[in-house]
Amino acid sequence: MARITLPDGSSIEVADGTTAKQVAEQIGAGLAKAAVAARINDQLVDLSTPIKADAKLQIITLKDIEGLEVMRHSCAHIMAEAICRLWPNVKLVYGPTVDDGFYYDIDLDEPIRPGDFERIEEKMSEIIKADRPFARKEMTRDEALKKLSGDKYKTDNVNRATGDIMSFYSSGDPFDSAQGKCFEDLCRGPHIPSTGKAGAFKIMSVAGAYWHGDPTQKMLQRVYGTAWRTRKELDEYLTRLEEARRRDHRVIGRQLDLFSFNDAGPGFAFMHPNGMIIWNSIVEFWRGVHAKFNYEEIKTPIILNKELWHKSGHWDHYKENMYFTRFDDADYAIKPMNCPGGCLVYKTRKHSYREFPLRVAELGLVHRHEASGVMHGLFRVRQFTQDDAHIFCTPDQIESEIIGVIELTFEIYRAFGFEDFHVELSTKPANHIGSDEIWDIATNALVQALRHKNIDYKVNEGDGAFYGPKIDFHIQDCLKRSWQLGTIQLDFSMPQRFELVYTDKDNTEKTPVMIHRAVLGSFERFIGILIEHYAGEMPLWLAPEQAIILPISEKTNDYARAVENKLKSHNLRCSSDLSDEKIGAKIAKAHADKPPYMLVVGPRESQSDSVNVRIRGQEQTKTLKTDEFITIASRKIADKQIGLAL
Ligand SMILES: [Zn+2]
Ligand SMILES: [Zn+2]
Repeated sequence: MARITLPDGSSIEVADGTTAKQVAEQIGAGLAKAAVAARINDQLVDLSTPIKADAKLQIITLKDIEGLEVMRHSCAHIMAEAICRLWPNVKLVYGPTVDDGFYYDIDLDEPIRPGDFERIEEKMSEIIKADRPFARKEMTRDEALKKLSGDKYKTDNVNRATGDIMSFYSSGDPFDSAQGKCFEDLCRGPHIPSTGKAGAFKIMSVAGAYWHGDPTQKMLQRVYGTAWRTRKELDEYLTRLEEARRRDHRVIGRQLDLFSFNDAGPGFAFMHPNGMIIWNSIVEFWRGVHAKFNYEEIKTPIILNKELWHKSGHWDHYKENMYFTRFDDADYAIKPMNCPGGCLVYKTRKHSYREFPLRVAELGLVHRHEASGVMHGLFRVRQFTQDDAHIFCTPDQIESEIIGVIELTFEIYRAFGFEDFHVELSTKPANHIGSDEIWDIATNALVQALRHKNIDYKVNEGDGAFYGPKIDFHIQDCLKRSWQLGTIQLDFSMPQRFELVYTDKDNTEKTPVMIHRAVLGSFERFIGILIEHYAGEMPLWLAPEQAIILPISEKTNDYARAVENKLKSHNLRCSSDLSDEKIGAKIAKAHADKPPYMLVVGPRESQSDSVNVRIRGQEQTKTLKTDEFITIASRKIADKQIGLAL
């Protein structure tokens, strides 16, 4: 007999050799039906795996993320079988899971085209409908190599695999398919019990991929698919993808003339006048909030000498990501971070505990070299402005300073319409500097600050930087995508490296605690996130153009100009369309620029000193006195209101 302990702590006795599937049946028919795999003593295995000794057992269903992955990988096998049936001379290479789905790399002389996806999907549906079992067969490495002789790709997979036992999974009727053999693939497993357990799937794309990712090797075809528990989940995913495509900040950035990229500076963004309006609106707001929270602002050079970067440790630990230059017979680096410059400013005068905490902000322009393959619009660039700050304080001020940073961070996120945050705390890694005592004080201060603010957080054990623990802030956009923006990092290393000191109460010199923090992270990336979150329909206070005035005919052009001047005198960003177009055409054209308000003016409005307002995204219009519109709009801008209703 074997004693099996279940996740709820209860246990049952079963005969040796009972399979995980049979245990699931004992627990309940519903669980047995939903089961797709099992975890025996922390190892993910097939449901058909016999249990030979006392063990912990968890039955895995598609509700578990591991279950979903097992199902997705099984779909890769099913897709591979479908492709083999359609193109019998195909050679299979490798078929793992990825986020949201799976792919299979194949070697086929003929290109697979999007027009072929439906045929592949039909074959896959046949295989799933047949509900054939996935069967595992084990053999020694030598036996596997013999079985695969002549198949260079799978032989290579065996040679790269670890362990002495190789396994194959077949998912055909035993040896009876059209070619007289069942579909079988070298695979570590596990798999769903039978093809019928596969969920809703779709072939998404095909792309070239080098074998082993090595450009000197053969170019293979990588066929991507996605798979979900249900048809409904698949449809929701496809809608999300479509929505993400519609919101692509690179496309909207071009349409609204916000920014551009040029081969002259790969990975360096050019901000256009409309983009700069958004940028400067953020800067102005950011400065206001920082002043309120008693920050000072500095600006430090972007080029600093080699000795400084040696001292900071960047030269030794961050060199691959840095840019360099040389002049006057000396080496310099372009700053990837603002901290060393901040330390030099700190050192320009003496400091006393009386002036602590010292909060010093910097909108610092940093350069970090990223591989050309990972660049993605404003999301991944090589030059960006970081909304940095360094706080110098005493150890007993850490907790209150962290609370202050959290309050400032949330105030800033809310102004942009982000209300869904989550927080992660990263603790002491194995490789760290500083005593356990100081780590405990610092980590405890972070925890206390989070508790004080009643914030739920996730702990990433051992994930802190070598120089101190940290808190990261993530926001969720309207597509439920999570973005890490802000960070608070305690640093025990840099103040020592730079010999920073302050005079304490007892008149001795001590090393201050240094807190690095950023709220938005990179201005460029944050603007990209805003564009996608709002699909280019910026909140009023950020919109490059807040209102456009549309005279219905030439006769009211003068009145339109008068309204425009009046709005501008109240600092509203606006323009008038005085073209000869019909009003319908003017509205359609204005619509593409996504201004929050269109103000249509005709003889009636001109006589009553009013405007007929069309709110972005709404059908109904509303006539207001021009002064009244200005008052309401100005109030919304001052309050950073997201809603446009008048
Ligand atoms: Zn497999
Ligand atoms: Zn820093």
